[in-house]
Amino acid sequence: MYLKGVGPARAEALRRLNIITAEDLLYHLPHRYEDASTVAPIASLEPGMDATVIGTVVSKGVIPTRKGLRIFQAVVRDDSGMIEVSWPGQPFLDRAVRKNDVLLLTGPVRFFHGRQLHPREFVNLGEEAEGTHEGRVLSVYPATEGMSFKQIRSLIDQHLDALLALVTEYLPPDILARVGSPPLGEALRLVHRPSSIADAMRGRMRLAFEELLFVHILQLRARALARERRAGITFVNKRELTSALKAALPFELTRAQTRATREIVEDMASPRRMHRLLQGDVGSGKTVVALFAALLAVENGFQAAIMAPTELLAEQHARTLERMLEPMDIRPVLVTGSLPARERRSAAERLSSGAPLIAVGTHALIEQSTTFGKLGLAVIDEQHRFGVAQRAALGQKGERPDVLLMSATPIPRSLALTLYGDLDLSTLDERPPGRLPVRTALRPESARPRILEFVDRELEKGRQAYVVYPVIDDSEKTDLKAATTMFEMLAAGPFAHRRLALLHGRVPAADRDSTMRRFRDGEIDVLVATTVIEVGIDVPNATVMLIEHPERFGLSQLHQLRGRVGRGADEAYCILLGDVGDEARQRLEIFAGTEDGFEIARADLTLRGMGDLFGQRQSGVPTFRVADPLRDEELNLLAQEVASDVLEQDPELTRPEHTGMRRVLGERYGRAIELFRVG
Ligand code: ADP
Ligand code: MG
Repeated sequence: MYLKGVGPARAEALRRLNIITAEDLLYHLPHRYEDASTVAPIASLEPGMDATVIGTVVSKGVIPTRKGLRIFQAVVRDDSGMIEVSWPGQPFLDRAVRKNDVLLLTGPVRFFHGRQLHPREFVNLGEEAEGTHEGRVLSVYPATEGMSFKQIRSLIDQHLDALLALVTEYLPPDILARVGSPPLGEALRLVHRPSSIADAMRGRMRLAFEELLFVHILQLRARALARERRAGITFVNKRELTSALKAALPFELTRAQTRATREIVEDMASPRRMHRLLQGDVGSGKTVVALFAALLAVENGFQAAIMAPTELLAEQHARTLERMLEPMDIRPVLVTGSLPARERRSAAERLSSGAPLIAVGTHALIEQSTTFGKLGLAVIDEQHRFGVAQRAALGQKGERPDVLLMSATPIPRSLALTLYGDLDLSTLDERPPGRLPVRTALRPESARPRILEFVDRELEKGRQAYVVYPVIDDSEKTDLKAATTMFEMLAAGPFAHRRLALLHGRVPAADRDSTMRRFRDGEIDVLVATTVIEVGIDVPNATVMLIEHPERFGLSQLHQLRGRVGRGADEAYCILLGDVGDEARQRLEIFAGTEDGFEIARADLTLRGMGDLFGQRQSGVPTFRVADPLRDEELNLLAQEVASDVLEQDPELTRPEHTGMRRVLGERYGRAIELFRVG
């Protein structure tokens, strides 16, 4: 469709904003709103306030400072008065802001030779002073060079009615009613031209819901088709070894463990191949759940393999399993790179013989030379520590064995359902009873001597401690304390009379394992380290986790670190040491206030965004224009429910009330073509 008022130059600018068709323009949504009713008169501003004002630029310029920083400054005026506005380090704004432009500014008011506003954000409303913001919500659009926000707004405004007349609804009325959503045309109008923020949010909700609904429909359909196609082993739940294990365990399973075990057993007993993720916080007891699965394989005459990311973890699992399996007279077979040649050979022979057994090991399990005669179950612990190819490799060591992935970075269910489209999900959302909380505190630099004394008293009692740093070496770029230098410092001073060891990513793997073994065996008192100790290590005698520069770590990472202590009967401590800014303090206080890994993951995701936590490489992570699966969590759960109901009644979306959705799915998502017979 041809748009009036768009010449070639503006068309180019619009293209940069991904606006090519008229529909793109309609879906170019405000990224935020300014509610003009909250705008304060300039005369009323006081230092310490956080304010939004609208004012006309009366003068402006760039001023250099002695430190070489260049500051863009402007004086703006409204009917009530004037104020100086300052943008340190942003001299380029001099080109974007002209005299007589009207600016909408939000930020703190400071005292600096008088009142000064330091905008966190601002919008240049252009030259015509719009004195008519009263009672109106201002839609703010993403803009680009050559196309100011104001030009975009007026372009959209000009065409909105014509575009809306072309919009047809494709969601069935009963879904709209269930969600309480306005129809599409109405929603788009509300988003572009709201009369209140609440209106805008109602419109936005509809668009977000639709995105989430469509992603869930695609994921659920893909998962259902994949399951149908995935032929696998049909295990028989004989209740021989599994019942024996249950009877022999020194504890009762938690409800969550029972539920997860049941889900896994059902999966394994079905003729389809299991492809399941077991997620649960540190210490939620994933290992024993995996062991039930392994025993089910063994009692059916198959082999099971459990792969862990480090030798130490593999050894630890082997030891745990050995203890739990003793009454059944089963010994796990350990397979790691550092086994003596003779043991390695005998392990290899047993694996290739096909005799029913449980193998526990490192990536040695997936080496070419390792063959399994009859692998029925592949378990991958701390799955995020392995690459996609490594995870797949274990699954390829047998005839379509069932696969169980385990993860200690739990994410909210709604998000997991959105992210891991092809996996079934079991969650341990409860921890075994009776564990003491780890006492967590944030302490300033000035408390360092006291903290070190405190740690030393714990050591005196025979306990052990971890001290963690964000970097290995000193570098010129940062003034962060580094593990290597602090190791020497601590060894020379505060802990001179203790046994210290240093551990980081550049220590060769074999030395790393031997250091960890010595720490585990109590031959080292203090382990000075980087985050290499993050993964699943269990040393019950360690009671202190001291973390320097805590602001450098993500909350989930801190949570993993904290999980290294508090594994014994003694009170344990996690101390975050350092002077941190306000923002970091807020973050760290969330962490100190809870030991719930889900809550922490949620906070982490909200603060850092999904990209950071999962990396951009995580393929198959859907991207959203409007929705945020985490912030819109309730809506996301509702969308999932609706998607599942729709597919249950009409798996191919062929009913008349669903054909509209199917058409839009086909237009919008390439994948839909394979999943539904579209077009
Ligand atoms: P993670 O989920 O972090 O891998 P583990 O499987 O290592 O957790 O279990 C942590 C500890 O809790 C182990 O010492 C394990 O024996 C113990 N444990 C597991 N389940 C229970 C339970 N239901 N009751 C008591 N202790 C349990
Ligand atoms: Mg574990």
